[in-house]
Amino acid sequence: MANTTLMMIKPDGIENGHIGNILEKVTSSGFKIKALKLTQLTLADAEHFYAVHNERPFFGELVAFMTRGPIVAAILEKDNAVSDFRALIGATNPAEAAEGTIRKLYATSMGENAVHGSDSDENAAIEAAFHFATRERF
Ligand code: ATP
Ligand code: MG
Repeated sequence: MANTTLMMIKPDGIENGHIGNILEKVTSSGFKIKALKLTQLTLADAEHFYAVHNERPFFGELVAFMTRGPIVAAILEKDNAVSDFRALIGATNPAEAAEGTIRKLYATSMGENAVHGSDSDENAAIEAAFHFATRERF
C-alpha cells in the first residue's frame, strides 16, 4: 500500500460543485484513480474515522459537517502518494495553504476544507479498507 492514499472530497466540496475540478487537479498531478465512489458517512462512521480527534473542542462540529451530505471517496496511486497528496491539498487551514493547492482553491474555512488525505501509509490502508470492498478496487 506504500504508493496509495485515500482521498475524500468532503460535503462542502460537493455542495460547492467542485467534484470535477478536484478530480481534474488530482489526475493532472499524476495520481491514478484506483477506486472511486459517491457515498455518505453515518454518524458512527465519522466518529470512527476521526476518533483521534474525539477529545478536541471541534469534534462535534467535525462529525456533523462530515455527515451532512455525500462525499466522494477515492483510492489514489502515485509514488510517495501520501506525502505528495498532502502537498497537493495544502494546509488544514486554507488561509495558510500554498497557492495552487486544492484547499487554497476550494476550501472555505479550517473546518470546511474541501478534501481529506491520509496522513500515513498505515492509515491509508485502513481508510481504503473502510471505504472499499476488494471488487471495487482496480
Ligand atoms: P484531514 O484529516 O481531514 O485530511 P488534516 O489532516 O489536514 O485534515 P486534522 O488535524 O487531521 O487535519 O483535522 C481533521 C479535520 O478536523 C480538519 O480537516 C478540519 O476539517 C477539522 N479541524 C481540525 N482542526 C480544526 C479546528 N481548529 N477547528 C475546526 N475544525 C478543525
Ligand atoms: Mg488528518
